[in-house]
Amino acid sequence: MLELRPNCELCDRDLPPGSTEARICTYECTFCAACVEGVLGNVCPNCGGGFEKRPIRPVRAWREDTGLGNDPAGTQRRQTPHTREEIEAFVRAVRDLPPDAR
Ligand SMILES: [Zn+2]
Ligand SMILES: [Zn+2]
Repeated sequence: MLELRPNCELCDRDLPPGSTEARICTYECTFCAACVEGVLGNVCPNCGGGFEKRPIRPVRAWREDTGLGNDPAGTQRRQTPHTREEIEAFVRAVRDLPPDAR
């Protein structure tokens, strides 16, 4: 199951489960739309992959054993281990390749 992480790994803004600003890579690395479109240039600094909009898990259990009541969002805040300088150099090296060519 997708881990709904609570914050942007770069700017640390809150990304609650209902946020439309959350973006994720295939490893569930989670950043906000402003960081993805800005400094990250659609390059995950942890894996080099692209980002997609994080789906929103329904609050209600529309089907048995689903919804945030059964499967709540994660609470462990994360921060990318890479420095800003490392990230900028990495993004420069990767961003011109589209995600499906990386
Ligand atoms: Zn951010
Ligand atoms: Zn990643």
